[in-house]
Amino acid sequence: MPSTNNKYSSQQCYIKKIKFLQKLKVSNETLICSIHSLPLKIICIDNKQRICSQYALNNLHLSHQIIPENKFTEYLNELVKVYVKIEINLN
Ligand SMILES: [Zn+2]
Ligand SMILES: [Zn+2]
Repeated sequence: MPSTNNKYSSQQCYIKKIKFLQKLKVSNETLICSIHSLPLKIICIDNKQRICSQYALNNLHLSHQIIPENKFTEYLNELVKVYVKIEINLN
């Protein structure tokens, strides 16, 4: 059934996204932006990368979802909660 396949692949995508973002979280040495010499304390969800506060103001990221580092754990927990809900709905 195509609809089931779509659900399955979006679920796979989702878990990949969570795993990738979790890796961003565990790199906990303070990284410094080589261009602005600012700490990379903001996570751009769309680019799945850490950015500095100057980059966050950049046009490139304006339409992107960005999360400050101190809110990131909370954000990941929310993602995992949503994932669990999806899984329950599929089964
Ligand atoms: Zn920068
Ligand atoms: Zn971005």
